[in-house]
Parts: sequence; C-alpha cells; structure tokens
Amino acid sequence: MTQIRLTNSKTRKKEDFTPIDPNDVRMYVCGPTVYDRAHLGNARPAIVFDVLFRLLRHEYGPDHVTYVRNFTDVDDKINAKAAETGRPIAEITAETTQWYLDDMAAVGVLEPTHMPRATNYIAEMVAMIETLMAPDENGVRHAYEAEGHVLFDVDSWKDGYGKLSGRSVDDMIAGARVEVAPYKRNPMDFVLWKPSGDDQPGWDSPWGRGRPGWHIECSAMSKALLGEVFDIHGGGNDLMFPHHENEIAQSCCANGTDRMANIWLHNEMLQVEGKKMSKSLGNFFTVRDLLDGHDGQPPVPGEVIRLVMLSTHYRKPMDWTEKKRQEAEKTLKDWINTLQKHGYSRQTVERLKETKDWAPDAEFLGVLSNDLNTPGALARMHVMAKARTAAGLVPFAYAMELLGLVTDWGVLDLSPVQDDQIPDWAPDVIDRLIAQRSAARENKNWAEADRLRDVLSDVGVQVTDVAGTASWLPGPNFDPAKLEALK
Ligand code: AMP
Ligand code: ZN
Repeated sequence: MTQIRLTNSKTRKKEDFTPIDPNDVRMYVCGPTVYDRAHLGNARPAIVFDVLFRLLRHEYGPDHVTYVRNFTDVDDKINAKAAETGRPIAEITAETTQWYLDDMAAVGVLEPTHMPRATNYIAEMVAMIETLMAPDENGVRHAYEAEGHVLFDVDSWKDGYGKLSGRSVDDMIAGARVEVAPYKRNPMDFVLWKPSGDDQPGWDSPWGRGRPGWHIECSAMSKALLGEVFDIHGGGNDLMFPHHENEIAQSCCANGTDRMANIWLHNEMLQVEGKKMSKSLGNFFTVRDLLDGHDGQPPVPGEVIRLVMLSTHYRKPMDWTEKKRQEAEKTLKDWINTLQKHGYSRQTVERLKETKDWAPDAEFLGVLSNDLNTPGALARMHVMAKARTAAGLVPFAYAMELLGLVTDWGVLDLSPVQDDQIPDWAPDVIDRLIAQRSAARENKNWAEADRLRDVLSDVGVQVTDVAGTASWLPGPNFDPAKLEALK
C-alpha cells in the first residue's frame, strides 16, 4: 500500500492519512448551490476531490469508500432566481442539478456515493437545532431563539470557535463581513433557522414556518450519511470561514464530539488569465461554455479541461489561460495517439484489467499520494508515455485512467474514428477474423495467418498484441463496407 499524505487545514501540516475504519473511508465535500450553471471555478473542487476519491478507492477498494457531496437546493439565491424568472423553485433546482451532473461527468468526475439534497433533510436539521437549544452535558445551551430566528451562540463555544481558520472570535469580527442584526447577542452568531414569508419556501418547525440557514445542512447530512466524526471534509478555501467554522461548531456542540472530521482539505481558487473571474471583466465562463464552444471559440473536450486543472496543485491558486488549454490539448492528443498506435482500446483495457499486468507505476502513485501532487504525477506520466511497446505503456494507461483522463476508452473525443461510426455487427466479425488468425498461428499455418492479417489491414483495422492478447482498433481508413462483405 502507498501511504497517502494530506495537508490538514486544521493543523496546517502534512499528515499521514489513517482512516478511522479502512473498510469504510468517509469523505464529505460541500457541493453546489443549484440556481445556475457551474462556472469554471466550481469545477475545481469537483475535480480535485474526484481525484482524491479515485485515489482512496484505489488504495482501500472501490467498495470501501463513501463519498458524500451535497446539493444546496434551499437558498436565497435560488429564491431570487425564481422571482426573477417567474419559474417554480423545484423546476430551477432540478434543471440546475442535472446540468451540474452532466457538466461534471463531461470533465471526468465520478458520481459520489451519495448526493443528498438539503430539502430532503429538513427533519434532521430541525432535530439538530433542537439539540443545540437544549442544555448540553455541562448545562450549556448553544442556540437561542430571537424574533422568529434561531441563532447559534458563538460565545457558548468560545474555546472551539475559530480553530480551523486559526482566528480568534475578535479577529473574525474585525475581518469578516458579518451580518449585523439587532436580534443577535454577538455579531458572529449565525442563523440556524429563519422565518419564511408566504412567498418563500418554508417548513413547519417548533419556531414557526421557516427554512434552515445554510450551514446546518452539511452538519445534518454528514451526520446522517457518515456519522458524527468522519475522515475527510473538503471544499474550496473560500468556505473555510464562516461555513466550515460554523459546521464544526454545530456538529461538535450537538454531538458532544471534539471534532467533526479528522482532516480538512481546501482547494485554492481559480482565476482566468491572472484575474478573478467576473462578468464585468468578460472573463467569466461556465463549464458548459467551454464544452460547447463560446464566443467564437471551438469546443474544449472535457479531458482537456481536466488536464489543465490537474496541472496546478490544489493548494496553489490556479490560473486558467488559453496557452495552458492549447498545451493540454496537444499533450492529450499525443498521449492518446501513443495509446491508440499501440492498440489500446476499451476492449484491450478491459482484458488487461483481468490480468496481473494491469498495475500502476510505483513512482507515479507515490507522487500522487503525497498530498495529491497532480503536477508531479503528470510530470511522471510524460516519462511513462515514452515507453516503446504496448506492454511498456500499461502503467501509463493505468495512470490515465486513475486520473480520470479517459472516461471511456472506446469513445475518446480525440480519436479519428468515433464509436458511432462502427456498425453494431462489426466487432463480432473482427473478433472472428482475429480468432481465426490466432488459430492459424497456433497451427503454424503462416500463410493463412498472413492472409487474415492482410484482410484486416485492407478493411482498415489495426491489430496489436498487448500483453499477449490481440486487440483491434479502427484506423483512419476503416471501411465498414469492405468488412460487410466478410460477414
Ligand atoms: P458555491 O456553489 O458558490 O457554494 O461553490 C461550490 C464550490 O465551488 C465550493 O466548494 C467553492 O469553494 C468552489 N468555488 C467557487 N468559486 C471558486 C473558484 N473561483 N475557484 C475554485 N473554487 C471555487
Ligand atoms: Zn458545507
């Protein structure tokens, strides 16, 4: 096993990762608020934590990792969108949720194990708020009701509050834009529950019809799906304060634990051409804009977006530039050509996976496991891609898949022949010809083996022997009409 090391935002140190239960490694990542298309910055945490999910699955086994990423489907930004467009909230959140799933799938992000929607966990949130309002084992109440709102009482947990971001409550008050409201005892107190007007979404609660504050959903959903204390909690570093600080306060005070998660991981922000993305600067775009092509630009394949993202370490600010996009596109084309030239296809990889030859490069894995050093891992891949034989390229192909750079080996966007150009019956005919060729070789009938090789080459099928198994790929001159004659 390779030891995974991660930089814990809480201790500000790189630590060896030891799961609470190696049979069930548990990770929670704060997901999107669903009111609009995901912008390019939103794709960064999705991709970073997807790489970690893949690495954890690799180390502990795919069935031993539980990854939860939520959808915030109750929020004032969603209400504003509904008011602005006159569309029902449920329609907006359902549509935006599907957009997010489609866009993230296009950049190679696997679906997490659970994707809870906040509105399905209102009862759990209400229960947690009730616990916070009742005296804890030391007789301390951590929440209070004021003017129809329920607020978390930061002073009730002064020792714990601010530990993640390493700030004192006084510093936070000075530095943050906290909402000052007459009903707050301390300006840092944050909303757990707030009243809803007739035109706003609301649920009945002991404090009247209302809706949750933002932070409580993550505490309630992570507890329901991962337990009171779990292994890893992640998100963008803009969430560290106040969101994560508030999640910790709620969870620790309600559950009587000294922590919510063992390791806190935060990705740095993404900028575009050296500037913060903003609509007024004209450098704001969504993931979908890139995938479909926008402002006269050609479409950018999802794998290229992913490769650009992985070329910067998650703890460093990332700059999206046109130059990086071009370089990534060239790299990916070269890499995929190399694999195709050596006969790699979905079939090859599927067959390879059943053999012991399908194994990673130890150095690649070591670099990646060292705090998710994706730029280092990509540098190693440039070396691995220089292997001259199909068998020698196995660790490289393995790395491509582990990093999610090829989602479906059969339909590489950059491939000369797309899957839909291959008729349904063709693989059977080709497999039959290849089997006949192998049989001829086994019988030392070289003339027949050569004839079959020529037949395959004439229809434009490239046959390669990878790790002892023959596999095929349609070449640029693939001609289904000629193949049909051989049916
Ligand atoms: P939101 O829907 O705004 O809550 O954001 C969803 C996720 O995207 C959170 O984890 C944010 O930290 C992250 N995020 C938002 N903007 C950026 C950005 N420019 N760069 C990287 N991550 C971002
Ligand atoms: Zn959260």
